[in-house]
Amino acid sequence: MNNNFLDFRSDTVTKPTPGMLEAMMTAQVGDDVFGEDETVAALEEKLCHIFNMEAGLFCPSGTMTNQIAIKCFTQPMDEVICDQTAHVYRYEIGGIAYHSGASVRLLYGDRGILTPELIEPEINEDNIHYPNSSLVVLENTVNKGGGKCYRLNQIAPIHHLCNIKGLKLHLDGARIFNALIATGDKAHDYGKYFDGISVCLSKGLGAPVGSVLLGSKDMIRKARKIRKAFGGGMRQAGFLAAAGIYALDHHVERLREDHQHAQALATALLSTKYVLSVLPVETNIVIFEVAAGTAEKIAQQLREKGLYCGTTSASTVRLVTHLDLSQAMIDRAIEIILHL
Ligand SMILES: *Cc1c(COP(=O)(O)O)cnc(C)c1O
Repeated sequence: MNNNFLDFRSDTVTKPTPGMLEAMMTAQVGDDVFGEDETVAALEEKLCHIFNMEAGLFCPSGTMTNQIAIKCFTQPMDEVICDQTAHVYRYEIGGIAYHSGASVRLLYGDRGILTPELIEPEINEDNIHYPNSSLVVLENTVNKGGGKCYRLNQIAPIHHLCNIKGLKLHLDGARIFNALIATGDKAHDYGKYFDGISVCLSKGLGAPVGSVLLGSKDMIRKARKIRKAFGGGMRQAGFLAAAGIYALDHHVERLREDHQHAQALATALLSTKYVLSVLPVETNIVIFEVAAGTAEKIAQQLREKGLYCGTTSASTVRLVTHLDLSQAMIDRAIEIILHL
């Protein structure tokens, strides 16, 4: 890869901005395993405030926050309910079985979006043969659904169902800020619906590393021990937390630009002959279906012209917009798309 290529593979490829690096370099740090890193504490507290949750835990990855949450909310032999496209099921290397000894009930939502009507019949009744349904996991935005969003008024009835059936509700919020920007829902309202929330700082927000798990004080006390058992207790992690704080202060509102860029790419793609269809764009992910041949072939042709993207199936290509793709770069990408 040369330096001139346009990287649409993922919103994880961003590098810290000069302002973010400055914040990292000047962070106050301590040993966070001893509970002495004030910058980590400030980041956890800031996100608690934003999402109206009691406590937070800074972790090295989104996968770790999700897997810790699942371990907190289940016992071995329990069952986790999620959509069949869910990251926690497909892209966390069977971690639900490995770490938590739980089984998974897969549902088929609309582009990953679940409803109480889909969930309720899949909750097991108390029976000697059945695993205990103990947790529902939602993803917002839905990665494999082309960045589709839940609105809070879709989440509220799922919360209500979980509440009356005694299930916990966890949010994989790897791109929760993209969803908040797109829907206009308030982050503060999320706290009353979820038992656990994973927030990723190294996707659209542009921090180099890190995710924060939010929950009740009791849950996070347990999560802190599980993080240590997973090998995720970090020492002077404040240097990384400082990047997260900077991202929350500077990189949330600008997600709007990424969404506009994604729209512009989708419009260009729809005007070409090699694209059959594009999933409706709500946030920063564009997934299109190729009209003929394989997705890999089209992705390869785009790559040869300097536009790097990935495939999500044999017939679908994914482009993700992010902080490191300027308007000029989007314009160049559109030229490549139109003249492939
Ligand atoms: C990226 C992502 C995660 C976490 O990924 P890490 O690489 O472990 O930080 C979790 N859920 C979704 C939907 C994601 O896209």
